[in-house]
Amino acid sequence: MSAVFIHNGQSNPENVTVTADVSRELIGNDSLGSVEVIKNLGNPDGKKIAYVVGVHPLENDTHRTFLNLMPTMTDLNYCYDVYVINVSEDFSTYGQLLPDDQPGRQTGQDLALKYVYPQIVNGSYELAVDVHAHGGAYGEHNTFVFSPVSGSEGEKLGQNVSGSTQNISYYDPQFTTSGPYLTVPLNENGVPAFYFEENSFISQDIKDLHMLELIKAVDNLKL
Ligand SMILES: [Zn+2]
Repeated sequence: MSAVFIHNGQSNPENVTVTADVSRELIGNDSLGSVEVIKNLGNPDGKKIAYVVGVHPLENDTHRTFLNLMPTMTDLNYCYDVYVINVSEDFSTYGQLLPDDQPGRQTGQDLALKYVYPQIVNGSYELAVDVHAHGGAYGEHNTFVFSPVSGSEGEKLGQNVSGSTQNISYYDPQFTTSGPYLTVPLNENGVPAFYFEENSFISQDIKDLHMLELIKAVDNLKL
């Protein structure tokens, strides 16, 4: 169907093939970076779900994985808007930099709050999924979803996704840096939201498999 081509390790949605229903919009652009949204992937008449990639630019391997796979999906139940954050700063990938020395980390969070949050909270979405990667800091928990707000609808939907997949667990690390910039206020203001976290050091084949599990499980949620 369509493909997303990636340059220089950054998630770059420029080459998403735009079909009749799919559109791309620039929703933010300043000295910190830019934010784009790819709209109406999947079933344009379905309920709306938002994905967000790029909040933490160092974690771009999962962002690329998502952007490569999502446009190839067919027969989806829901309508998907994908928010893509691109920070202006140079950044690297896990394995090249220490996780606590992440250029662009705060910038990505700031762009999420400034541009992505207002669109999602006012956008009639049933769910938002924020895609991240980690460097193996969570013991045996490599691939997991969680909501940073206990007792939220986002937590319930994340648990449903975990329960319907083989390889995605529900694991709450109890601490996030980006939560206050996106997933916490979304959950607290009517849009269920959860994180997807993947270990950056596993092979691309397995990352692809896990991402497909996530996309399909989200699409099979009862909303
Ligand atoms: Zn992250």
